[in-house]
Amino acid sequence: MVNARDLQGPADLHTHSSVSDGTETPTQLMRAAGAAGLETIALTDHDSTAGWAEAAVESRRQGITLLPGMELSTRYEWRSVHLLAYLVDPSNGALVQETAKIRASRLSRAEGIVARIGGDYPLSWDDVLAQTREGATVGRPHIADALVALGIVANRGEAFDGILHPRTGYYAPHYAPDPLTAVRLVRAAGGVPVIAHPVPAGRDRMLPESYFRELADAGLFGLEIDHRENTEEGKVVVRRIAAELGLVATGSSDYHGTGKPNRLGENTTALDVVARIVDEATGSAPVLPD
Ligand code: AMP
Ligand code: FE
Ligand code: FE
Ligand code: ZN
Repeated sequence: MVNARDLQGPADLHTHSSVSDGTETPTQLMRAAGAAGLETIALTDHDSTAGWAEAAVESRRQGITLLPGMELSTRYEWRSVHLLAYLVDPSNGALVQETAKIRASRLSRAEGIVARIGGDYPLSWDDVLAQTREGATVGRPHIADALVALGIVANRGEAFDGILHPRTGYYAPHYAPDPLTAVRLVRAAGGVPVIAHPVPAGRDRMLPESYFRELADAGLFGLEIDHRENTEEGKVVVRRIAAELGLVATGSSDYHGTGKPNRLGENTTALDVVARIVDEATGSAPVLPD
């Protein structure tokens, strides 16, 4: 049993490194966390646990508690839904297989998007590879970085608002399991599932309330409520849903280095909630500071 007193805060439970679409290596990310005064951090790269070992070396040096995690890509109808998965067993066969399938689909999908953009702009696949760490989970942010490097757009935000936006016509989705399947997968791997940024702006982007109930019945543990992409009205709704379904409420930055304006520690999670997540997990243990 982990006591909240054994944990130290502030705790930021959602960050990305260059193992996915963050701009800093896991080492640099842990140093940035130390500089930002964080004492507990989760590394949650998209669909990958490949940054865990590197992060653990530096988090210990920095005196920070590390919760290794992942942000699983899922889809409900047309909605992209992100599922934070804390302390999973990284060698769980089903999870390894499913994340490999998602990453492979992300790769061919990105190649398709780049081929279509390449018809109108001087963008090649090599330009995207030049922005991507070997083995990283490829996403639109890497295409955005290539467009920035070529001087076609000023920053990732401009790329997402224009060329990379679904309405512009270059976009394609990638394979992703449905959220219910993903929650079961994370639980079977001993992990603790929390829905990331559940109420982003945009018509009907929130999951139906009845579906939250199904997810809770299947083992969903929490909702990431304090996150800059949740609308203020939406937070009121999901706070009520969390209370009704007995889900914990987390808060996090979703830091991506210089890839997004989100700053480390801009939202944090209460230490008693961190302790409940750690207690609930059977897949891996947090990495404690030296
Ligand atoms: P993808 O998963 O390849 O469709 O790309 C979505 C990812 O792009 C998300 O994980 C976000 O972190 C990132 N993203 C979405 N919108 C923006 C934006 N406006 N600026 C920077 N990054 C973004
Ligand atoms: Fe991202
Ligand atoms: Fe996300
Ligand atoms: Zn994220």
